[in-house]
Amino acid sequence: NEITGTMSAAGDLSDLYQPLASYCCEYAGDARAWFCIVDRSACKRVRLTGNASPALERPVPLNSGIAGSVISSGSPVWIPDARGTGRAPAQLARSILALPVSAGARTVGCLELTSRRRHRFDELEYHFGLLLAANLSSSLDSLLTRQELAMANVRLRDHDRHLTQLNVRLRELAHTDEVTGLFNKRRLFEQLEMETARAKRYGQRLSCMMIDIDNFKQINDVYGHQAGDDILSQAGALLKKSLRATDFIARYGGEEFTVILPETSGAGARCAAENLRSTFMLYPFRIEKACVHLTISIGIASCTTFDHLDARQTLMMADRALYTAKRNGKNQTVLADEADDLSDESVICQKREAALTPGRSARLTAAKPAS
Ligand code: GH3
Ligand code: MG
Ligand code: MG
Repeated sequence: NEITGTMSAAGDLSDLYQPLASYCCEYAGDARAWFCIVDRSACKRVRLTGNASPALERPVPLNSGIAGSVISSGSPVWIPDARGTGRAPAQLARSILALPVSAGARTVGCLELTSRRRHRFDELEYHFGLLLAANLSSSLDSLLTRQELAMANVRLRDHDRHLTQLNVRLRELAHTDEVTGLFNKRRLFEQLEMETARAKRYGQRLSCMMIDIDNFKQINDVYGHQAGDDILSQAGALLKKSLRATDFIARYGGEEFTVILPETSGAGARCAAENLRSTFMLYPFRIEKACVHLTISIGIASCTTFDHLDARQTLMMADRALYTAKRNGKNQTVLADEADDLSDESVICQKREAALTPGRSARLTAAKPAS
């Protein structure tokens, strides 16, 4: 019971050596004791010296000596007198007792006792040795299982961390536009819902811009589709550089971009849009060795006057304002305003609106080209 109790409390393999050495010393007295355990491709041999610290000897090759044959066969060896058998591990060893130690179904070690005296171990001692080895086996089994479990847990945690990183990356990819690196349309709608709800809840202002590059088709026609992609990428970077860090910029599709401007009034958004328009006009977009200048048209809708509208409808208002800007000659900013009368264009706009979302229509300010 004492042996079982002490050994099963071991937290590490080396914790087993000291009690094992004590028991060997108590039971085998003058005999010398070793514990051999398979360690990867070799066998670790530990000298168990009574109450002194167990000494680790050099690793020995697997399958060598008596311990090796006990480990490979899984059967105990009891040699009352080794003289003349050719099996003495050390010159002076006459009596040898080598007992297999297992972990689960595998023999993983050997408890080896030798004495200079022949017939040193009797049958009682042989059976006590078997009992000791059996205790050692069950302690070793639970110890190795615990260690394997701990290692498996570490691996699991690593795996989990890796999976979380992959998920974050996947989410980023699912929300990013490949060509410009800006947020995509899916992410735009998530953000728009959130910002609209926040603006309504706290009574904040919120504006939204729809931006379209003028005559972009010509770029593709003249310079090719790849050049068009390069320009889109440069336009994305220019938008990022020109707007506030708190503004949310997404590529809506094609050569159209959407910007959400939190806590910004219609007038503030118009001001930002006009700055953006001049920045684009002046910016030299690079196509290989050439450089081109572009203009943009911008439609703006602001939530302050459209509290009753939802996110999509706000965006639709901005889109209709953009359409008006195009109709009025491009390279300009138009601010949608519910207070103004419907212009003649509203019929066309409503058709466009119907194509976007079925449901209510909102009124739109007639376009006023920016100065
Ligand atoms: P407008 O001033 O009225 O906006 O004229 P536009 O030529 O800019 O607009 P239009 O709708 O006639 O053409 C849009 C062009 O944008 C046509 C399409 O090939 C191009 N386009 C859309 N998406 C991409 C893209 O991802 N890469 C490239 N290179 N071109 C794109
Ligand atoms: Mg365009
Ligand atoms: Mg377009």
